[in-house]
Amino acid sequence: MPRILDGNRVRDDIKNELKPRVDALIQKGRPPGLAVVLVGSHPASAIYVRNKIKTCHDLGIRSESITPPDNITTAELLALVEELNQREEIDGILVQLPLPPQVDAKRILLAVSPEKDVDGFHPFNVGALVAGLPAPRACTPAGIIELLKRNGIGIAGKRAVVVGRSDIVGKPAAMLLLHEHATVTICHSKTPDLPAVCREGDILVAAIGRAGMITGDFIKPGAAVVDVGTNHIDNREQAARIFRNSAEKMAAFDKKGSVLVGDVDPFDVVERAGAYSPVPGGVGPLTIAMLMVNTVSSAERRMTVPGIC
Ligand code: NAP
Repeated sequence: MPRILDGNRVRDDIKNELKPRVDALIQKGRPPGLAVVLVGSHPASAIYVRNKIKTCHDLGIRSESITPPDNITTAELLALVEELNQREEIDGILVQLPLPPQVDAKRILLAVSPEKDVDGFHPFNVGALVAGLPAPRACTPAGIIELLKRNGIGIAGKRAVVVGRSDIVGKPAAMLLLHEHATVTICHSKTPDLPAVCREGDILVAAIGRAGMITGDFIKPGAAVVDVGTNHIDNREQAARIFRNSAEKMAAFDKKGSVLVGDVDPFDVVERAGAYSPVPGGVGPLTIAMLMVNTVSSAERRMTVPGIC
């Protein structure tokens, strides 16, 4: 049986390591502060934000949730971000995506001060990632590295294949793997013979957004497979196909009317991989954990040398 890369366990370890760092900051004068901006009433975003706020509470991080209405303008949101940039006790600013269509999301993300950009999306921090300089790293890719390292999966010298080239997952994940001395291939929708390229990977990262697309023929026997995909399936036939009519899974589907599926075929990966991250319970829990790491690190930097990124 392959090893399961248990994201819940790694998340708990990371949280336990953060607690004394938060306590030390409180001793020094104040807790770390995270501001979360949630525009409008996007149900999935509201759940993500609630989980982030709850994790802050568990760790003793001060969180502030700002909920402007759906019809906010770009100028109004820019003013709000600028006010958060100026506030001393706010170490991290997170603007929950997606933003409503009338808001220029790129301008908003550019307006967040790079030193408070705990999502690691600002071009300044993307540049720091490429240059290998310390700065907040994008949370999900940073979580992938923690998941591998803390499960004893060696990265240096390995062939790593990343499927997906988004700015928030694929590209930064590939760059982090490169910094860990893997030989990295990035694939996308125009990559010819994707299964053959994926089969070269000792480490295979799937960040595509297509339920169960990575089947056995994409997986090198014994590879470590990291499944980033979070796909909510509400079609019973599709769920039955992906879960091979598993009675347990279909009962869960019938109860909720949907099921969460990764980008990797959940049965094939067990047969072929040496280690794999399940969905749920793999990469997902680490995204919030790494947001907390970025917030605490930002507070440490700002409370030591104010104004330095
Ligand atoms: P995205 O921006 O839609 O990017 C998807 C990438 O997959 C693109 O680069 C696309 O290629 C590639 N792709 C699509 N179809 C393909 C195919 N048939 N063959 C090869 N490549 C293909 O998605 P994302 O934001 O990176 O997210 C990817 C997945 O991760 C989603 O399921 C998302 O929900 C999940 N996610 C999970 C977490 C977490 O915390 N667990 C966090 C973020 C994202 P092109 O560039 O050529 O179009």
